[in-house]
Amino acid sequence: MEATPDRLGIDPETLSRLSDKTDVSALLDRLDDLDARDLERLADGARPARPQRSPEPPPIDGDFYDVFADLTDEQKRVKQRVRSFMEETVAPQANEAWEEGVFPRDLIPAAGDLFADVMSDGYSFPPDDPIAVGLISYEMSRVDPSFCTFWGVHTGLSMGSLAMFGSEEQKEKYLRPMEDFEMIGSWALTEPKHGSDASRGLETTAVKRGDTWVLNGAKKWSGNATFADVNIIWARDTRDGNVKGFLVELGTEGYEVEKLPGKISKRAVENVLIEINDVEVPESNRLPGVEKFADVGLQLASCRAGVAWEAAGLAAGAYEKALEYCNERIQFGKRITSFQMVQDQLVRMLGKVTALQTFVMQLGRAEARDGYITPERASLAKVWCCDTMREVVSIARGLMGGNGILLEHDVARLFADAEAVYAYEGSREMNALIVGRGITGQSAFV
Ligand SMILES: Cc1cc2nc3c(=O)[nH]c(=O)nc-3n(C[C@H](O)[C@H](O)[C@H](O)COP(=O)(O)OP(=O)(O)OC[C@H]3O[C@@H](n4cnc5c(N)ncnc54)[C@H](O)[C@@H]3O)c2cc1C
Repeated sequence: MEATPDRLGIDPETLSRLSDKTDVSALLDRLDDLDARDLERLADGARPARPQRSPEPPPIDGDFYDVFADLTDEQKRVKQRVRSFMEETVAPQANEAWEEGVFPRDLIPAAGDLFADVMSDGYSFPPDDPIAVGLISYEMSRVDPSFCTFWGVHTGLSMGSLAMFGSEEQKEKYLRPMEDFEMIGSWALTEPKHGSDASRGLETTAVKRGDTWVLNGAKKWSGNATFADVNIIWARDTRDGNVKGFLVELGTEGYEVEKLPGKISKRAVENVLIEINDVEVPESNRLPGVEKFADVGLQLASCRAGVAWEAAGLAAGAYEKALEYCNERIQFGKRITSFQMVQDQLVRMLGKVTALQTFVMQLGRAEARDGYITPERASLAKVWCCDTMREVVSIARGLMGGNGILLEHDVARLFADAEAVYAYEGSREMNALIVGRGITGQSAFV
């Protein structure tokens, strides 16, 4: 039987549209050659696709390789406790605090309760369990990197300096209330004119007159310093040229703190400019454990390793939030997670997040085994984890289209905050030079 438009039931209007696009007689000749089954198959293919119902997405699991499955019970408890605190207490305020550029100080008492719970065996520096401490940074940064920095400056840098280098009287006066978060700490090395070369170029001076030191100079960045009760100011002793640490209390005459405006990253961390004009500090407020800045090396290496954990947590948070968003977002009638290119980007992120988790866990094991982390290992972790974190947040932000630059979905904040993590605790280049010197035996610092 011959295939004609009439017999195939094609109306004239459709026939006219069809002839604009193809040679209808040639098409009908070809159809003549097909048997009934072929025609049926062809008709099947030509029917418009029925709208697909996407299956419910599986639960989001940022730990795809169960990297954290072998933690001790106590480490798991700490991780879960911090996760709940961040999701229930910090997350609801995170975007608003970021937008306003003000640290949510009302959270400080709750942060103190958290500290008491996660440090139930007492505070020590270097940490007794560097994996547990790393997990705290990971979980904080996964939700709110600004809060993580508040915590890191107060605990690792400020309390860490007191624990390692402070006198018994200083520990009693400052460290104990800091453990309860009744007193908050800050730490100031960087200056307006000296960042990477701070330990060498530092210009803030300390002149000893009797039992009193007189400090003069300026500091930049120093997180928490707008409200921190005490700041550890690093200044050069003019007699021997060595850099030493001094405890300066907020409100001391000549110590002027101003919040840095216009920051585009970690906006809820209050960074500052400090002017130090004839600030008098008693000898009892000098850290006796530091004779020269090199003495602080192992403390800084441990804090730098903490930044690698922070980078890993931030990347995991961005991956999870981006996947959550893609699961909900419908385009062309389908969840965008059903598109091949979207899946490819999700997989690229997941691979990097898994590598980050594996890296920091090994870093923690090395620190736990040796009791310290070498500067070279800490620097490699800082360089590689921050590079990889940046790749992850960039994919996450891009995957979310325009909504990726809105605070509403959190990834925009994580994307911007990654830049501060990348910048501080030594730039990429300085850390690379430390590793380069370690593996070649040749210093390429200039
Ligand atoms: C959010 C935030 C919080 C911070 N918190 C604190 C804090 O609490 N306390 C504190 O003391 N500091 C803090 N800092 C300061 C931080 O540690 C410095 O920003 C960092 O050390 C880099 O210094 P810099 O910004 O002055 O950059 P610079 O030293 O001016 O470097 C600029 C560029 O030059 C490159 N460079 C410099 N020297 C070399 C070289 N020899 N070879 C190759 N490249 C080189 C660097 O890698 C970088 O890319 C904070 C910074 C930020 C962004």
